[in-house]
Amino acid sequence: LMQLFRPLDMLGMVYRTIRQGLIDMAAMFALIDTEVEVKDVPGAPALVVRQPSVVFDNVVFGYDRNRTILNGLSFEVPAGHHVALVGPSGAGKSTIGRLLFRFYDPWQGRILIDGQDIAQVSQRSLRSVLGIVPQDCVLFNDTIGYNIAYGREGASEAEVTAAARGAALAPLLERLPAGLETEVGERGLKLSGGEKQRVSIARTLVKNPPILLLDEATSALDTRTEQEILATLHAIAENRTSLSIAHRLSTIVDSDCIFVLNEGHLVEQGNHAELLRYDGLYAEMWARQANEAEAMLAG
Ligand code: ADP
Ligand code: MG
Repeated sequence: LMQLFRPLDMLGMVYRTIRQGLIDMAAMFALIDTEVEVKDVPGAPALVVRQPSVVFDNVVFGYDRNRTILNGLSFEVPAGHHVALVGPSGAGKSTIGRLLFRFYDPWQGRILIDGQDIAQVSQRSLRSVLGIVPQDCVLFNDTIGYNIAYGREGASEAEVTAAARGAALAPLLERLPAGLETEVGERGLKLSGGEKQRVSIARTLVKNPPILLLDEATSALDTRTEQEILATLHAIAENRTSLSIAHRLSTIVDSDCIFVLNEGHLVEQGNHAELLRYDGLYAEMWARQANEAEAMLAG
């Protein structure tokens, strides 16, 4: 009988791996259709992360041969540092995240995590060290607890509870008679954008990845909810390496290090004050967003 079970176990494992891949993909690509074309090299070893640094080394990439999106992009995020990535829409910010997850391989150059080329290690091990908090998270028609536990296979109830607390879900859960067992989605409770985002953060906390990617994580929220969620995100990024792609510059003014991306190049780098003094693209973007905010208040 056991022999019968073993292949089924295997199948279960493969299935879960694919599903984990899919949810990350769904998160990354939002509505964009993509095929998985990247394969592990034969016998690819696991990525071993001691110091979670991220390096893009002269990366050239485009989605099709006629158009280059990243044009020899190089940057380094040292282990434990928090970098904000800004730039005009279409500059290639989300592309950087997709390459980091290795949904595509660069045409040229390398991407290194803790000194290891991500193209040479197993994708399973690569994706296990990366956490993403996307703009729109995908929740299952199941309980809040299930949606959080999904972050890591075999997560215990205590871990799920701790993650919910870390994501500041406690006030919501206290109001719900069934707590973590509350059904969400079509079959149950309708969560607000901010609450969904917190479930997504709790899921990431359960996964406990050393590297965190936030892709405009809060841009779909109203300003007050955004501020609350940002405070939680800052707290959970604390002891990790993080890369935050920001749309509203007001959300990243406190970053020690801001990378400004334009036409596939890193064009400026520094903190908010330094970049304003530099009076280049960042200063221009800042002025434009300040004007828009004023117009909104006036109008
Ligand atoms: P950003 O996040 O900075 O707004 P993206 O990295 O999403 O920009 O996109 C960079 C460029 O690549 C854009 O011009 C976009 O239209 C293009 N692009 C993004 N995804 C795809 C895709 N799957 N196929 C073809 N082009 C794409
Ligand atoms: Mg984007």
